[in-house]
Amino acid sequence: MSVLEEVIAANQAYSKTFGDKSELALPPARRFAILTCMDARLDPAKYAGLSEGDAHVIRNAGGRASDDAIRSLVISYKLLGTAEWFVIHHSDCGMEFFTDELMGELLSQSLETAALGPDGFHDVGTNPGSTAGRDISWLTIADRNQSVVDDVRRIRNHPLVPSRIPIYGYVYDVKTGVLNEIAEATEAGRPG
Ligand code: ZN
Repeated sequence: MSVLEEVIAANQAYSKTFGDKSELALPPARRFAILTCMDARLDPAKYAGLSEGDAHVIRNAGGRASDDAIRSLVISYKLLGTAEWFVIHHSDCGMEFFTDELMGELLSQSLETAALGPDGFHDVGTNPGSTAGRDISWLTIADRNQSVVDDVRRIRNHPLVPSRIPIYGYVYDVKTGVLNEIAEATEAGRPG
């Protein structure tokens, strides 16, 4: 089966037992939001115990507090009533393995998927690339714990984020499944 067929088959099975999830309200019932990485090893529903309708989960590469992540968080509280937020990065994040400079370089060489070797990513394609990647801030991560602190601070200091919302900072360990608190981040996200 192709990936497409697998997804459609899985959805048919899921929808057959959808049951009373049809009655779920739009605002998240447990009134919180998680900003986390898109990494395929992370399943917020499992690591944080979520069911459908419980919470907002905002995901991007790195779980970074980008303008778009903040856009979602502002909608999350202002229109849908969330009252507590988590920023959750993780160990072994792919965002630790490149820099803006390298990403710009890789994309300028080709648009093929790069190879990851022991000394990082290198381009293996032959197609023409594009220099457009040099104009993007890729929000890479140089220091895992510091990136959580930085993102909590960025959210905390945003003019559209009310001081009443606590913002907790964590790093998920992909080797154990444990969420480890980054005390400096949670402190920075303490409600005022
Ligand atoms: Zn990641």
